[in-house]
Amino acid sequence: MISKEAVKRGYNRGNYTVGAPSQPGWAANAGEISGDSFFGTEAVAVPQAVLDLLAAAADSVTTDAAAVREGTRDWWAASMIAETSGRPVAPESVIVSVSSTEQVQAVMRISDAHNIPVTVSAGRSNVTGAALPLAGGIVLDICGMDKFLGFDEQSQIIEVEAGVFGDIFEEKIQAEYGMTLGHWPSSYAISTVGGWVACRGAGQLSTRYGKIEDMVFGMDVVLANGDLVTLGNSSRAAVGPDLLQMFIGSEGTLGVVTTIRLQLHRLPDHGRAIAYGFETFADGLEACRQIMQQGATPAALRLYDNLESGVQFNLPDTNVLLVADEGAKESVEAGLEISERVCAETGIKLDDEAIFERWLDTRYLTGKSAEGFKSSPGLVADTLEMVGRWKDLPAIYDEVVAAVNAIPGTLAGSAHQSHAYVDGACLYFSIRGDIAVEERATWYRSAWDAANEVIIRHGATLSHHHGVGLLRAPYMEESLGGGFQVLRAVKTALDPKNLLNPGKLGL
Ligand SMILES: Cc1cc2nc3c(=O)[nH]c(=O)nc-3n(C[C@H](O)[C@H](O)[C@H](O)COP(=O)(O)OP(=O)(O)OC[C@H]3O[C@@H](n4cnc5c(N)ncnc54)[C@H](O)[C@@H]3O)c2cc1C
Repeated sequence: MISKEAVKRGYNRGNYTVGAPSQPGWAANAGEISGDSFFGTEAVAVPQAVLDLLAAAADSVTTDAAAVREGTRDWWAASMIAETSGRPVAPESVIVSVSSTEQVQAVMRISDAHNIPVTVSAGRSNVTGAALPLAGGIVLDICGMDKFLGFDEQSQIIEVEAGVFGDIFEEKIQAEYGMTLGHWPSSYAISTVGGWVACRGAGQLSTRYGKIEDMVFGMDVVLANGDLVTLGNSSRAAVGPDLLQMFIGSEGTLGVVTTIRLQLHRLPDHGRAIAYGFETFADGLEACRQIMQQGATPAALRLYDNLESGVQFNLPDTNVLLVADEGAKESVEAGLEISERVCAETGIKLDDEAIFERWLDTRYLTGKSAEGFKSSPGLVADTLEMVGRWKDLPAIYDEVVAAVNAIPGTLAGSAHQSHAYVDGACLYFSIRGDIAVEERATWYRSAWDAANEVIIRHGATLSHHHGVGLLRAPYMEESLGGGFQVLRAVKTALDPKNLLNPGKLGL
């Protein structure tokens, strides 16, 4: 069955060498990478009197600089560039650990009263700098909020606290209730339910189960002033705009998500996959479009360009399409029949079992690796996932790869199509460079500038599931156009002192 293996949580976050503690220059360094004017401002120190209040309100307060740096590290490539250059990526802060909603409310009230910024921190698996405490202040560690609060069996809705890690979550709901959420990000064992919601994430089987925003039934959120609000809690609604969705993807800038209610699915009793090779990536994209528009919704519909087909499946002369599904046998077989018919029109049949097995073996390992490239101190590897319409995707693929490859120092740009819809799909680009160590930040920003120029020019969307953080902050205004002033107004209304995760989402 596709969704039953587990990987173990807890492998090293950021297995890179750390620079000397408390070196000056975090602001210049982060600004150089993100291009955001926020970094010119002073970091906020937490006075001793406030530390005392926090210690009384929370489970623990960590002030030791080395422990704080260790406890705020994330998976953003630019953080790694900064730290391996010997510069801390964020200013000094303190970590406040909590294990209940009441504690979150108390911390927010203290922060509000004393104007201390609060950056929520969970699995720290984000790849955008989203959880870095740019303004110093408080890092609010919510990993202690890990309780299962209840299961409504008839409605198939589970209620959990936001800090539950993905592997623990799935193990429990599978073993105790025979259920799955169907949300399988590659990082599921190092990320939390709240982090999924905060970043608007996607799992590998999203074509059948949806993205996280399709799975949330309701949630409780603590606002900047410490108030607790309950959002959603209905299958669909017509009571004004969808306030629940406004908080999904807000990356800790609008509130702290404390409790989440999620819709579950019964465990699948059947699973099967087919695989085809296509002469061009565009031919493969066309097959994906036909599959989706003819009504099939396979759990995974993944098309790899020939570079990635070579690395992943040792098939460098083709563009591999894997169609895998799980669920009730009748629906799985019906969808695969549509997919097989579409693929056979222009594709070449591959060894289904071998491709599927290889994908199952490697699907939690890809993304941040630079497999196939020699190790080098100047190696930079990152991933860029965007979403666009079918009509634009072949050109976007060609132009992004060409734009990244044109930057001196680039080793390769490649992509796979990872999540598909009736109207479009997500292309997941891998970009790798090998440059002089001191040129890494410049190369990195040039690569992102070049790729995002193509995406914005085609009217496509910058991110499908990794989110914004610091990485995409410089492009937000141009990308959202008039919508950006709405986002700004919402932020100002909910967090007038700009205390919640300041500097993120381009705000
Ligand atoms: C190897 C690797 C593979 C990955 N694969 C995927 C993938 O397949 N799909 C995918 O979607 N993502 C993927 N990611 C990205 C990452 O795992 C997700 O963004 C994840 O949702 C982050 O969750 P987290 O618990 O680690 O949150 P963190 O990194 O701790 O926080 C991320 C952001 O959310 C905010 N936040 C966290 N919890 C809360 C809360 N309770 N309330 C308010 N704000 C909060 C933080 O302030 C921060 O802004 C991958 C990352 C890695 C390193």
